[in-house]
Amino acid sequence: TQAPVNVTVTGAAGQIGYALLFRIASGQLLGPDTPVKLRLLEIPQAVKAAEGTAMELDDGAFPQLAGIDIFDDPKQAFSGTNIALLVGARPRTKGMERGDLLEANGGIFKPQGEAINAGAADDIRVLVVGNPANTNALIAKSHAPDVPADRFTAMTRLDHNRALAQLSKKLDVPVSEIKRLAIWGNHSATQYPMITHGTVGGKNLAEAVNDQKWVEETFIPTVAKRGAAIIEARGLSSAASAASAAIDHVYTWVNGTAEGDWTSAAVISDGSYGVPEGLISSFPVTAKDGKYEIVQGLEIDDFSRTRIDATVGELAEERDAVQKLGLI
Ligand code: NDP
Repeated sequence: TQAPVNVTVTGAAGQIGYALLFRIASGQLLGPDTPVKLRLLEIPQAVKAAEGTAMELDDGAFPQLAGIDIFDDPKQAFSGTNIALLVGARPRTKGMERGDLLEANGGIFKPQGEAINAGAADDIRVLVVGNPANTNALIAKSHAPDVPADRFTAMTRLDHNRALAQLSKKLDVPVSEIKRLAIWGNHSATQYPMITHGTVGGKNLAEAVNDQKWVEETFIPTVAKRGAAIIEARGLSSAASAASAAIDHVYTWVNGTAEGDWTSAAVISDGSYGVPEGLISSFPVTAKDGKYEIVQGLEIDDFSRTRIDATVGELAEERDAVQKLGLI
């Protein structure tokens, strides 16, 4: 039988952690035949709550779950880890300036990057979920010089899935028929969900929608502001769908995209499409042989160009701000 894969989850006692850990334990992260060992990281005040979640995981009697360890020290939590899901982050609280938010997250993601650099397994793959996810991933990456830069990613798969859901409803087709959708840029309100090169049942998606007003005034804002709409409706944030998208991101990374399809992930830019090299930006990506690759050679129309430039501009500003703070 296969040796267990070590999966580290930070912020394990939080809302997303609560939904995510059960999906991992049931074999949905890597596939039903791969045993996993969970390594949970929490801040000291939340270790007890993480222990409670671990008790429930025990009670799930999951055949694929080979063990659970709980830590409050990143060095130990990332030791020997193969997959790191960085969920815990410092949320923006009322009155908090952007600089304070970035600084607080620097205090979390810098030591985590260092710990990954020092002790993670050679095949380490990192997904950052905690916001501001793209810039938190950039901070962690900057402190892990010995890890290939393409192993640091941030999550825009939830935005991708949200876009799929909106289009599926608009066109009254199953989500499985919609392909080649792409989220560009930052996981924030500036993100750009692009349908120009999409297909539905083999036909062009933008032509099938044939409603640019809907795209600009309904589709794009609905996808970008979906998190706020869910808080408004549920009274709590969208934790289960975020956890589900994190599962999708890693599963695709390891198992690949279907021939002819893409997905979306924030990965390190190589300068493609004018996105400054080194930014962790969302792109249309394929996955093959355990690697995400940016889809190349797409024609970018004027509307898309303006939107991509705006969201990438925001990422560059966040990078400059953390650079000024000495966090990267
Ligand atoms: P959640 O589990 O709900 O969210 C965790 C992070 O994910 C937040 O940064 C949140 O950003 C982000 N996120 C990304 N996408 C979504 C989405 N669609 N919906 C909701 N959140 C999303 O937060 P909790 O407060 O319940 O739990 C956080 C846990 O992290 C706590 O237990 C805390 O102790 C822990 N923590 C651990 C650290 C560590 O391990 N070193 C460091 C810091 C915290 P946003 O705020 O923008 O919603």
